[in-house]
Amino acid sequence: MKGGCGARSTVITWSPSVTLVPTRACFNACGYCSFRRSPQRGELAGDPLGDGLDDATARARLAARPLAREVLLLSGELPPGSSGRSRWFARLRQLSALALAAGRLPHTNAGPLSLREMAALARLNPSLGLMLEGLGPAYDALHRQAPSKALAVRLQQLEQAGRLGIPFTTGLLLGVGESQAERRDALELIALLQGRWGHIQEVILQPWRPGGPGAALLPSALVEELLTTIAEARRILPPEVHLQLPPNLWPVERLADALEAGIDDLGGIDTGDVINPAYSQPTPEQLRGRLARQGWRLQPRLCVHGRWLAWLPPPLRRRAEAMAQALGGAG
Ligand code: SF4
Repeated sequence: MKGGCGARSTVITWSPSVTLVPTRACFNACGYCSFRRSPQRGELAGDPLGDGLDDATARARLAARPLAREVLLLSGELPPGSSGRSRWFARLRQLSALALAAGRLPHTNAGPLSLREMAALARLNPSLGLMLEGLGPAYDALHRQAPSKALAVRLQQLEQAGRLGIPFTTGLLLGVGESQAERRDALELIALLQGRWGHIQEVILQPWRPGGPGAALLPSALVEELLTTIAEARRILPPEVHLQLPPNLWPVERLADALEAGIDDLGGIDTGDVINPAYSQPTPEQLRGRLARQGWRLQPRLCVHGRWLAWLPPPLRRRAEAMAQALGGAG
């Protein structure tokens, strides 16, 4: 697959990133989540978020990661219509502005947004994200207590982002009991939306892994199965859509197999993974060395991939273009 006339690129991208969590309060209760806490009554009514990240702490996190270009804002969700929602959303905007003021680019993944919320965040965020996760009875069971994970809601969000012209990241959570056919169906839905709007810059193929004492490496049978899914994703999705694999959730000795199958991006890499803290992140140096020995070149990128820079509002575009140039034209 690598090298030679007509072969795919040997460049694998990643985003130097730092994660900020405005709050873990979330009105959903997904069956696999070890990130959330229940929102308190006062928070729903508009009191300050109990675990709210203050500006000084946010700035200190950024200062500790001087090379991180992306600030991933990852938040639990307050219900639409709750009086606390506007304070929660204002905090997302404030932290996005704080990231920009520090010379970084925010990328927010905070659940479904109203049209107005999404448009407002897109003025500060060069890209936004929301996992489709998947479809079928296994997801329905895990999302019984998670109204914002309904497939129709997720599809509406992808459609809305397309209509607004926002470079977008989505993805599938894999290995929760879904069938190969259901994975294909989900990928075909994303391909359909991409055909309509062209805004899907990357699709994360995220293996589900248990947290806490049950944490364990991906079994080899599942690795083989997921390699088939990666190859199918590459076949189903248009070529401009990057395929992303979180490297801490995949056996490092099988990474080259995933790249051969179609992965071309390793996503945002911080020093840890706040969603899956039991799975330590390999360092970019470790990845770079291993991949170089196997004929691949690791290249940093921004949260927005190069193809979508022209979509950004002018102030964001100028900033992102300058940053992309400083990264060596990565993207
Ligand atoms: S929406 Fe996200 S934070 Fe909330 S329960 Fe589900 S996985 Fe956890």
